[in-house]
Amino acid sequence: MKYERAPEYEQQFTRLNTPYASEWPDRRPLKIFALDPLRGKTAANEVTITIPNENLKRGPASERIKVIDYDGTLNVYYAPVDLDEGPILMRNGLDPSESDPRFHQQMVYAVTMRVLENFERALGRRLHFAREKQLRILPHAFRGANAFFDPSTNSVLFGYFAADAVDPGENLPGQTVFSCLSHDIVAHEVTHAIVHRLRRHYNEPTNLDVLAFHEAIADIVAIFQHFTIPEVLRNELQRQHGDLSRPGTLLELAKQFGHGTGRSEALRTALGPDEDSDGEKPKRPKADDYLKIREPHARGSLLVAAVFDAFFVAYQNRIRDVVRLATNGTGVLPTGDIPSDLVTILAAEAATAAQQTLAMCIRAFEFLPPVDVTFGDYLRALVTADRDLYPEDRFQMRSALIEAFRVRGIYPGDVDSLAEESLVWPTPKKPSATTANPEPKNPLPPLSRQVIGDLMAREVLGEDGEDEDDDAPPSAERAAAWTLTDYAKENAAELKLTPGPDPKISVHGFHPTFRIGSNGRVRVDVHAQFIQERPPKPGDEASYGGLRLYSGTTVVFGEDGAVRYLIAKPLSEEDAKKRGKRLRSLATIKEYIDALDDEDREMIWRDDVFLQRRMIERANFAALDRQGKAR
Ligand SMILES: [Zn+2]
Repeated sequence: MKYERAPEYEQQFTRLNTPYASEWPDRRPLKIFALDPLRGKTAANEVTITIPNENLKRGPASERIKVIDYDGTLNVYYAPVDLDEGPILMRNGLDPSESDPRFHQQMVYAVTMRVLENFERALGRRLHFAREKQLRILPHAFRGANAFFDPSTNSVLFGYFAADAVDPGENLPGQTVFSCLSHDIVAHEVTHAIVHRLRRHYNEPTNLDVLAFHEAIADIVAIFQHFTIPEVLRNELQRQHGDLSRPGTLLELAKQFGHGTGRSEALRTALGPDEDSDGEKPKRPKADDYLKIREPHARGSLLVAAVFDAFFVAYQNRIRDVVRLATNGTGVLPTGDIPSDLVTILAAEAATAAQQTLAMCIRAFEFLPPVDVTFGDYLRALVTADRDLYPEDRFQMRSALIEAFRVRGIYPGDVDSLAEESLVWPTPKKPSATTANPEPKNPLPPLSRQVIGDLMAREVLGEDGEDEDDDAPPSAERAAAWTLTDYAKENAAELKLTPGPDPKISVHGFHPTFRIGSNGRVRVDVHAQFIQERPPKPGDEASYGGLRLYSGTTVVFGEDGAVRYLIAKPLSEEDAKKRGKRLRSLATIKEYIDALDDEDREMIWRDDVFLQRRMIERANFAALDRQGKAR
């Protein structure tokens, strides 16, 4: 019998068949090595992560990221992957493979997007690289046991090398190790690029902490990324019996790289600098660590360890109740495997605590000075940023952080005590002149509501929009930058800058932030950085090794236009003291450079050309990360 469709059915069918608008999903799944290829083909190492979906060209290349697979050593280009190709899309990206360069391109892109997303989520705004340039990523840039960020070309370059023939660790002797396949190394280098984007003078070493700070943030972001991969987290929780502070995979950085270069251990860990001599690891923090440890990566490890101390406290505080419930009130987990349900809860708490700690570390950037950062400044920024949003400190993160800095001997130079209230950056106050109203007043005039409204819609990256065509009528961004520069000129002294027509004050970027505090209210601020360069004098090159000398101030304006915080780094010409503490001056910078010269064993062989730019060479990321990695 022939089947005939009823006319009503036909009608129904046609209606159902009307084309639905198919939209691309918000997120794109992609496969990566969770850690690095060394951990093998296990479910916990080959994972699928999701990243924000964006329009992609072959490369992958997007509005902000461009993967260029050029090998400078061999002078070849590898064919770029098309992540929108059907067969690749259907499988959530190419399968992890050491031998397919297209997978390498996919992995660096995916991890870069993850890092970028972490920053954007914490900062509450979209980041662009300076002057709308893409961040270029070269997964096989050169042969060599190194990877680095090059600020001059806005590129991240990854090397590859043959594993140590004598001591390859868990690699095969001579096996090719690709630094671009290490999740940690990619995250570390991309973080350098983002830090440079947020604070472009932080690769100018004007004190011992500046370069170490760059390294520390890069490691903090890389290690916290481990906690965003549920497979890794669950495995480790089970293995470490719920105690995340024991040395292990989660806290190790770049294991394959460390092994490949004959170190037989991970490159660094979150537990502090290695003890070189007696092999005792992790190192117990000591009160003179901050005074003694000088190499940027090792010094950075101090900051990393301090942040992780605070994270462990937050995690313990989060899981205390549930562990007590699960153990009939003892709070002590019995030996043997932790029940799967409990692992699920612990993993969720660990992931949340990690996300919050990382967000706290990133948000603090908004409260850092534009130049000459110190670890003490960072502690103050962390406390200010966090207290501003979450006054109650529910999981005792801030007190744990302050304690973690204290036990390592890290004190801000300009505070009287380590109480939270004294660490918060000051709101400018001046005693009132009239006796009728003795309340101290803010000496800085507020910006008008209209200006604040204008600024809220914009963001400037370059100096005064300097790249714009001079003949063109000023853009709204440029006009806003001018308004801010005028404000800074009129209030130079109060902003701790030098008044006068010279040296020139420029606004070094401003942007609004929109954040939601624990009271559920949206807090809107406008952050601006002002910079002033000290005019160079004859003989400066020899004295300061090519370093340019700046003073700078970060100002945080509230929604009403009033100055809420002032974070200033003045540069004094004289060696001055205040309340018994030495202020930042040309003399303190010179002393720091002299100490580096003393440590430089090749100093007597150096020529004048080198001497006049020695501080620039010392801040070179390529040389720096080589030291730190293959040391
Ligand atoms: Zn680095």
